[in-house]
Amino acid sequence: MTASFLHCRRCLYTTAHPLGLVLDDEGICSGCRIHEEKDTLDWAERWERLRTLVAPYRSRSGEQYDCIVPVSGAADSYYIVHLVKERLGLNPLLVTYNKYFNTALGIRNLANLRIRFDCDLLQQNVNPHSVKKIVRSTLREFGSLYWHCIAGQTVFPVQTAVRYRIPLILWGAHQGLEQVGMFSHEHEPEMTRRYRKDHDLMGREADDLLSMFDTLKEEDIWQYRYPDDAALAEVGVRGIYLGNYVRWDPKAQHEQMMASHGYRTAAFARTFDCYDHVDCWNYMGLHDRLKLHKHGYSRVTDHASREIRHGRITRAQGLALVRAHEQAPVPHQDLFCRWLGIDPSGLDFIADRHRNPAVWQAQAPGQWTFAGWSTHADEAAAEAPQDLFTANDVLAHDGVEGYVTVGKGHP
Ligand SMILES: [Zn+2]
Repeated sequence: MTASFLHCRRCLYTTAHPLGLVLDDEGICSGCRIHEEKDTLDWAERWERLRTLVAPYRSRSGEQYDCIVPVSGAADSYYIVHLVKERLGLNPLLVTYNKYFNTALGIRNLANLRIRFDCDLLQQNVNPHSVKKIVRSTLREFGSLYWHCIAGQTVFPVQTAVRYRIPLILWGAHQGLEQVGMFSHEHEPEMTRRYRKDHDLMGREADDLLSMFDTLKEEDIWQYRYPDDAALAEVGVRGIYLGNYVRWDPKAQHEQMMASHGYRTAAFARTFDCYDHVDCWNYMGLHDRLKLHKHGYSRVTDHASREIRHGRITRAQGLALVRAHEQAPVPHQDLFCRWLGIDPSGLDFIADRHRNPAVWQAQAPGQWTFAGWSTHADEAAAEAPQDLFTANDVLAHDGVEGYVTVGKGHP
């Protein structure tokens, strides 16, 4: 195969990135260029802008929450709550969407988050029957078991803002800014329905699912429907990204939270980052396999590109890390098959249908050759660095088998 895409000369992304990425005259990508702002912007001044921005949302009576913070048992939840509660001095209502693929470690991290930061937490549990129907449909048609997770995580905070009349939602970093430099930090992009639909949800909102799948009914999708513009305007709902005002560095932030607030982490076979997605059995498993099938790269490329941009590894070391992890066996698919009630060969059949023919070639039934960018990047060999990240726990805890579909919390 000949590559029809171009490589960034600094990080490991190519112009095939699904969020859209451009190279400049020097062959450096838009994501790397926007990352340079992290070392040039006046972050003390930007923090003051944030303080000014949130000030009018502070509840005067003390009988209402100041803002909503979407959280999980991983992602950047600890650091976000630390900024909101301990540095901005706001009283947040934490909200979380139950994705069902929960690890015991994620349930533990979420319970500890609530306790250590002394916050109220609201959880949305959509009934498992509808969730499974949606997963069956989106897996088959989009090669995604994560549509429901992303739809739920991005809509439940907005619905809660309307229902509880709490206008301000505080998110962590903006993915389009962080990965591909879709915006400058100084543009201060805010949450929009449009970005959610086009990029988070692959162009399909809840109502689009209804028209695509005759298996899904109104009762299955209404919980994922974004509030209408009139309802949002009436409350004045606004979602802002803390990454526009704070120099975002997930590795350093997680290590700070491990030391100060008891955040726990775990090692994964398919990446070297031990800090993110420890709440999910599938994100670094089946979901990561499907990402490689569809896009020709997997999460380890995201992680390595980020570490290169932060100057902690070289490009050659990043490539070595990608090659060390990218084709690792996909763990925990048995748990997924048992949960959804399908057999492993059926899962493979569906997953193979989503292999991108630009990077995958069938040699024989069940045998594929891979020609993703990592196989033809001509980089001087380097050793994959060891122990960049620290795992201080594991995904499964004693006595807990498989998915913790509703966690009762943690002492
Ligand atoms: Zn780049």
